[in-house]
Amino acid sequence: MNKSVHLISLGCPKNLVDSEVILAGLSSEGFRPVDQTEKAGIIVINTCCFIDEAKQESIDTILEHVRLKEHDCETLVVCGCLVQRYGKRLVTLLPEVDLFVGIARMRQLGKILRQFLALAPGKRERIFSIQTSVRAWDEPAPRLLSTPQHYAYVKIADGCSHRCTFCIIPAIRGPYRSRPTADILSEAQGLAENGVREIILVAQDTGGYGTDREETNFLPDLIKTLAKIDGLEWIRILYIHPFRLDPKLLQTIREEPKCCPYLDIPIQHVSPGVLRRMGREGGDVRDKLERVRLLLPDAHIRTSLLVGFPGETDDEFDELLKFVKEFRFESLGVFTYSREEGTPAAKMKPQVHHLTRKQRRRRLMEVQARIVEEKNQHRIGKVFDVMVDGFDDADPRNLIGRTFFQTPDIDGTVLIPGGAPSHIGRRVKVKIIGSNLYDLIGQVQPSSCHSSRYTRRDFFDEGHLPVSDRDQLFS
Ligand code: SF4
Repeated sequence: MNKSVHLISLGCPKNLVDSEVILAGLSSEGFRPVDQTEKAGIIVINTCCFIDEAKQESIDTILEHVRLKEHDCETLVVCGCLVQRYGKRLVTLLPEVDLFVGIARMRQLGKILRQFLALAPGKRERIFSIQTSVRAWDEPAPRLLSTPQHYAYVKIADGCSHRCTFCIIPAIRGPYRSRPTADILSEAQGLAENGVREIILVAQDTGGYGTDREETNFLPDLIKTLAKIDGLEWIRILYIHPFRLDPKLLQTIREEPKCCPYLDIPIQHVSPGVLRRMGREGGDVRDKLERVRLLLPDAHIRTSLLVGFPGETDDEFDELLKFVKEFRFESLGVFTYSREEGTPAAKMKPQVHHLTRKQRRRRLMEVQARIVEEKNQHRIGKVFDVMVDGFDDADPRNLIGRTFFQTPDIDGTVLIPGGAPSHIGRRVKVKIIGSNLYDLIGQVQPSSCHSSRYTRRDFFDEGHLPVSDRDQLFS
């Protein structure tokens, strides 16, 4: 049989890490990863389903690949969140799919698939492991990276123990489980030895790292230890629940030169009534964000918002809109509420009309586009460190890179017309010469490649961190 396998990873970077682990497992079981579906005898789709759009994308992708089974593909495997959530229903609805694997055993998919294919077709079990995953990630999980060689995601925990009333993730992924620090460090060390310069820490709530374990090794300790690894130049942290914004974490981000001053804090809303109905604990998010601005005035603050939550009134939405205009987040994403079966919010009344949800999202995005445009105009003429990711797909004569405030596939990029290919995978000084709404345009400065030693000032042209007279606020 054709043992070449193509894996399609849907959803977020956390899912991408799972996909990379699956690929390594498939490879060690004798399967051969290929980058095109047309060349593959086996197709694996790692699905997402946290909102309607994600479910739809997963179903569409499965149906699109069912058609390939009429040609070269012999085996179609579906795994991940959609399987965990809908399990046996999918087995009936999608008879063309050969094998479904839930989250708990997904990392062993290589072994499961080898055993599955060794059986006669009539003896094959089509579904595996859909009990809720409660396993800790307590053993090393090798991966085949799918990101460019110089950056990688590192998953520091899985699951979530918050109980946001709109969210199905805890039911799919189980309670919050941090990975042992030694395991993360050994992975990061290995990545650095293989040329990774930037690691991006991910989890459902990175700020909660260590809170579920007896040892008191929390996110600030982890950042400090990771920063000692030679070769790593940037540490970026995604998804910090506002509840976790404590002084020690902010101080670490401020003081640790390798830690990007980029705070991704999904607040969802600001109206106390909406936040209460959402089950979002942790005090006034506005106070917390103002505090971050005060302590880290040059940090890039990103958030994600949820509009059209059940019962959201015009006044509550206006409160959010006003805050977005005043606070001027460096970037934000807006989701429209998705009524998810099995969540408390799905039963709340009144549900907001879907057109109102869309219209509220559009209004927020319009406001934010103007803010981003203005912020980008102010960046013209300034010089930033840029990690050069590769060639621009639209025009391979240009390079694409990212500053500390640009996360791959989430924020904009820096377009570098005529940049030298030798810069790919390196951090260079780039002067911003223009902008194009969410993206910047820049020129590499002469002799701009960095040694691996640098200071916090390298993030900024102005270099006005740290602000020592604000130290008292950390106490
Ligand atoms: S913090 Fe809330 S929204 Fe985020 S994964 Fe956990 S339950 Fe879902």
